[in-house]
Amino acid sequence: MIQVAINGYGTIGKRVADAVRQQPDMEVLGVAKTRPNFEAETAIDKGFSLYAAIEDRADQFAEAGLEIAGPVEDLVDGADVVVDATPSGIGAENKSMYEAYDTPALYQGGEDADLVDVSFNARSNFEDATGADHVRVVSCNTTGLSRVIAPLREAYGVEKVRATLVRRGGDPGQTSRGPINDILPNPVTIPSHHGPDVETIFDDLDIDTLGMKVPATLMHMHSLNVTLEEEVDAETVRDLFADESRLFLIPERMDIDGSGKLKEYAMDAGRPRGDIWENCIWEESISTVGTDLYLFQGIHQESDVVPENVDAIRAVLGEADAEESIETTNETMGVGL
Ligand code: NAD
Repeated sequence: MIQVAINGYGTIGKRVADAVRQQPDMEVLGVAKTRPNFEAETAIDKGFSLYAAIEDRADQFAEAGLEIAGPVEDLVDGADVVVDATPSGIGAENKSMYEAYDTPALYQGGEDADLVDVSFNARSNFEDATGADHVRVVSCNTTGLSRVIAPLREAYGVEKVRATLVRRGGDPGQTSRGPINDILPNPVTIPSHHGPDVETIFDDLDIDTLGMKVPATLMHMHSLNVTLEEEVDAETVRDLFADESRLFLIPERMDIDGSGKLKEYAMDAGRPRGDIWENCIWEESISTVGTDLYLFQGIHQESDVVPENVDAIRAVLGEADAEESIETTNETMGVGL
């Protein structure tokens, strides 16, 4: 059994912990938190061993009646791999701790690409992570773009990608984020940082991205234009995408007009936390004009990277190939709407 440590038990960390627990070849050795809050309490309720991420604050857990298994260093020392799901920039500060205990580490998309040996997306470059000590599971947006670009490159060749990312202002729990009543070019400079991030996954990809932020919390929305190397009709592209396990083609009959109904559908379907691990592509939006392909896709920022983290664990430890790992992860989590 692969012993997995999870350092940072917030939006991403708690979801990764639940997903790891469902795997037949993995165990959650423990989760580390900085302070006792509702997430610390649910971690204990779920039976995860709780470790103190910051030694000086360990007493706070006892005061809140929460039992601590030890300092985060013990957790990292005992694990085969650590998933760092701390806020952007903290992963970089933690790197020396993982090195000191010789524990391979996965980081999240908020960290810089140059922190790690490999940036990772299971569908696109699984094997690159084998044996690496420091791997970054790319951001929710980069994951969403990579999952679409990989099959298109393999099937038809991609000349150029242009994407406009309409980004949620914050996650539902992020009460301090915004905008509340505005539409922001964000970042205002063009191209946005997302394109270069996708280029960390693919060699020789030509991609420009533009970003905006809107008063929404549920999902991101991508408006995508891919210039292919050959003319393909829309039906053929739909068939290509239908074979991809982490792409959900929203059928017209479902009458899902936006991210609100998508989230409602996920909750009705009994998804944990209403999570949507798949890219949600509106089937009707898939259109071609000559070599240009267009589509809209919704990306659930809080959850699409979760199966990718599970796959990255197997990739780093060389425990499975891409196909085996993706299949196991999908089956155990229930990925595939
Ligand atoms: P979050 O704030 O919800 O959770 C981070 C957790 O780490 C919190 O519980 C926080 O208390 C804890 N923490 C803070 N400092 C710590 C430390 N020194 N040691 C251990 N734990 C510490 O953040 P998140 O949204 O889960 O983001 C985590 C990472 O995932 C970031 O790199 C982010 O960019 C990336 N990411 C976030 C999203 C998203 O939409 N939320 C999507 C994809 C990737």
